[in-house]
Amino acid sequence: MQYSDEQISRFKAEFAQKRRKQLLLIIPLFAVLILTVASPSSLASFGLNKQTMQWGFLAYILGALVFSLANWRCPACGGYLGRSFWIRFCSKCGAPLS
Ligand SMILES: [Zn+2]
Repeated sequence: MQYSDEQISRFKAEFAQKRRKQLLLIIPLFAVLILTVASPSSLASFGLNKQTMQWGFLAYILGALVFSLANWRCPACGGYLGRSFWIRFCSKCGAPLS
């Protein structure tokens, strides 16, 4: 499918925004992981017990998964973009994304 220059620049802008959102989603995950590995007792200092943390973590993962399924889609065709993060073209419709 052929896209106009205007459409292509819109796809790229939308994709950049989607990728930024995906990155923001990952940051808290890494923060918790690093904190857990570096200093497990620091989590307790927040007044959270292990079970609360586990459920919170599970809820976060599920929320992130649902958000990703909705967010990580091609701006042109709406197809899911897969697991790869650095994508140049949509594998479904061929729209240039970055
Ligand atoms: Zn597409």
